[in-house]
Amino acid sequence: MVRYDLHCHSTYSDGLLRPAEVVRRAAARGVDVLALTDHDELAGIAEAQDEARAQGITLVPAAELSVTWEDETIHVVALHLDPANPALGAGLSGVRDGRDVRARRIGAALETAGIPGAFEGALKYVTSERLISRTHFARFLVDRGIVGDVKDVFKRYLTPGKPGYVPHAWASMRDALSWIRGAGGQAVLAHPGRYKVGASGMKRLIAEFREEGGTGIEVLSSSHTSAQAAEFATLARVYGLLASCGSDYHGPGESWLDLGDLPPMPAGVTPVWTAW
Ligand code: AMP
Ligand code: MN
Ligand code: MN
Ligand code: MN
Repeated sequence: MVRYDLHCHSTYSDGLLRPAEVVRRAAARGVDVLALTDHDELAGIAEAQDEARAQGITLVPAAELSVTWEDETIHVVALHLDPANPALGAGLSGVRDGRDVRARRIGAALETAGIPGAFEGALKYVTSERLISRTHFARFLVDRGIVGDVKDVFKRYLTPGKPGYVPHAWASMRDALSWIRGAGGQAVLAHPGRYKVGASGMKRLIAEFREEGGTGIEVLSSSHTSAQAAEFATLARVYGLLASCGSDYHGPGESWLDLGDLPPMPAGVTPVWTAW
């Protein structure tokens, strides 16, 4: 059986391993088809592609786009896109630019909460000059001994309602999906189990996502319990969406699932790779 992992990160966004290291680890763990999905970034794909060739596995050019929908941050995994597409590149560059101002605001908010120097501190954990993420703040706070682990930092400081949270306008659903479609990609709603939108909100979200050209939904994810995997498999069938799977691996010691560590796809869904 072919093993797929269609969601993971490298040092070009908030992962801990370089693209080539991610690919080597995936290959060693038995992954046959890997999508590198850095946040709002395509720069790691070339390196990953070269290493995938060397390892004899398939690398799917991909990214994870940050979207704001009804004040909620939604992630969209874009699979099989053309990384050289100019409109996609320009769109993602704009999304990344907004991260700098937001990061300074997060630093200021944490300072108000009694933690000075977090912006400068987070910068020390940044691994690509093109992208700063909340994850880099989280690593700084953990290494400083302010909070026990990365998950806890999010819970205590970096999520809505917490002292270091700064609302941010990412790409609109319409723009993100038009960039993805324009680059020949397949848009997949990432880890839907994480969105606090309620049952009717999820319906609206999926409806709008499909209207704008979205075709897939992540059924298997490290963010999902097995009950949620079953729930989103049902939604995939009911809404006619293709089912995707991904570990969302960020690096050793920081992720729930390692590369390739996914259960079998639930029966009755059509996997995203059926048409590949
Ligand atoms: P950003 O794109 O800067 O808002 O950062 C989002 C990233 O933070 C996600 O891709 C995850 O890697 C990480 N993240 C978000 N929520 C959590 C959480 N509750 N626990 C651990 N990491 C999280
Ligand atoms: Mn991340
Ligand atoms: Mn995500
Ligand atoms: Mn991710």
